[in-house]
Amino acid sequence: MNFNDELKELKKKHTYRQIPNITEKDGEYVIVDGKKLLNLSSNDYLNLSTNEDLAKEFITQNQSEQFQFSSASARLLSGTSSVYRELEFVLAKLFKKESALIFNTGYQCNLGVISTLARKGDIIFSDKLNHASIIDGMKLSEADFRRYKHLDYNHLEELLKKYRKKYDKALIVSESVFSMDGDIADIRKLVELKQKYNAILMIDEAHAFCSIDDNCAGISEGFDVDIITATFGKALGSFGAFAVSNKTIINYLINKARSFIFSTSIPPINIAWTKWLLTKKMDFIHKQKNKLSRLTIGVQKYLKSSDIETVSHSQIVPIVIGEDEKTIEIAEQLKKLGFFVMPIRPPTVPPNTSRLRLSLTADLEFESVKTIIDYVRNEIQVD
Ligand code: PLP
Repeated sequence: MNFNDELKELKKKHTYRQIPNITEKDGEYVIVDGKKLLNLSSNDYLNLSTNEDLAKEFITQNQSEQFQFSSASARLLSGTSSVYRELEFVLAKLFKKESALIFNTGYQCNLGVISTLARKGDIIFSDKLNHASIIDGMKLSEADFRRYKHLDYNHLEELLKKYRKKYDKALIVSESVFSMDGDIADIRKLVELKQKYNAILMIDEAHAFCSIDDNCAGISEGFDVDIITATFGKALGSFGAFAVSNKTIINYLINKARSFIFSTSIPPINIAWTKWLLTKKMDFIHKQKNKLSRLTIGVQKYLKSSDIETVSHSQIVPIVIGEDEKTIEIAEQLKKLGFFVMPIRPPTVPPNTSRLRLSLTADLEFESVKTIIDYVRNEIQVD
């Protein structure tokens, strides 16, 4: 099949992707196709990225030499300065780990960490719904890998019993808050299994970091987790990512992780912004986190009382519709009502589980989310 035929096939299957025609962002709103819509498709869980007052405060409080828009090199060349090391120090301290390493994106971070730490002769055990960056990291490593059923730790233990002994190192990888379902891994159980079977445990905190965790240290805070990764591009309203671990692992990554070594580092202005948020704006972050938590509890309760099933225990609230076409149709109707809710379809999620993914953010009003839920409930019930 040629490229054109494949694209036609995607259109036929309603899985063709297009970049939305967003022209502007304004607080909790986006302008899409010229229409102002309430944005429920953003990972900016605390509404920090579009907060103009915050950006102005940052600019007045920081030195102009930090306002450079390119690092112009990889970290191992000259793409580094004090602010990068200072941010890494802040992260290591927050997570109570020996060291931290900034990566350019969460994708590059997971790809680099997994493909570097696991190699031929090793085995990786991965939750079936782990993010694409984890899957690609496993594929890039030359290790064998087994995927356990989503959140099914009996299945994980069966696989550990069957395969662990045949391999040198074993790596268990899970997200903490899952990106498409909003459900949460049992970190205590994962730690128990990694200790019992002598494995390395890696947790991706991308959707928990500074959103539903207590202290911006992930929800695995206080647990014996070997490597934590997370991104700045979601709740923290910035860009980039990081891994925290012991000194040996971080030094090993600096020496071996190709996605770290062979890529121009994040611009200094962005590193300075991230550091400023984590050091000077923690009170504001906590205020927004509390607002988000109240909204999330209200929405979860309302879903329950509306008889809409969801597995979510976080700010990511999927409403599974099933059919791709119906999901797209409801998302289009919601646009007409003033809401930007993305339909999520395979291959991002398993077949027949197409969904509307409500991404709650701190400044949203409960009443707006209620309107969406009421509309979707009627649409589902009509069928
Ligand atoms: N890990 C998870 C669980 C994610 O959901 C994402 C982003 O969607 C990433 C990693 C990648 O992070 P980034 O967007 O910084 O590349």
